[in-house]
Amino acid sequence: MDSFNFRFCKKCLTRDMIDKDAYFATLHELIENINEDVKTPSEEYERRLSVCTECERLADGMCRACGCYVELRAAKTSNKCPYELW
Ligand code: SF4
Repeated sequence: MDSFNFRFCKKCLTRDMIDKDAYFATLHELIENINEDVKTPSEEYERRLSVCTECERLADGMCRACGCYVELRAAKTSNKCPYELW
């Protein structure tokens, strides 16, 4: 994961995580710390998320098409929506 600064335990599954608030705080911290050279500009990022929030495939912050947390997927400019909606 080239530009990301992961601090997750690679041996854990989300279902095994005791403190989900801490997990999501770390997820948002990860998004904020994506390198600027690959990070989606804020206006485009918000546009992408507005498309996701209207999409029937969004469930609990996760895209049911690709399995990604959309806030993380949208944060890297080279990433695409699997249905080419952004
Ligand atoms: S990434 Fe695309 S398919 Fe997935 S929730 Fe967002 S708009 Fe929908």
